[in-house]
Amino acid sequence: MAEEVNLICTACPQGCTLTAVIENGEVIEVLGYNCKKGIAYGIEEIKDPRRMVATTVKVKNGFHPLVPVYTDKPVPKPLIPKVLEEVRKVELTAPVKVNTVVLENVLDTGVNVITSRDMPTKA
Ligand code: SF4
Repeated sequence: MAEEVNLICTACPQGCTLTAVIENGEVIEVLGYNCKKGIAYGIEEIKDPRRMVATTVKVKNGFHPLVPVYTDKPVPKPLIPKVLEEVRKVELTAPVKVNTVVLENVLDTGVNVITSRDMPTKA
């Protein structure tokens, strides 16, 4: 018997309400999309949900003690706690430049963790 799961497509700001129809663990149809990206989003969200991760990393001798970082690609949802654990182990030393790769290919995901701003040294 088919099951229906309602989702909000986040592939663009329009935020279409999708319905994924699932049978025997497979997405057999996605309804409610306004463009084809919605189909891909609906299938991925059921089979392999991923999220961008944004957090902070410690900075020794920085103007602020933490610098914001983000993943350059979405991370599989079940791995997010482990990615955050890896990020917590990192400590940078100021000055730090924006777009510095803090962790490369974290947990063999093909995802890099990157700084989103400069962090100068303490005045
Ligand atoms: S289905 Fe297409 S138009 Fe609708 S939110 Fe997704 S990407 Fe945007």
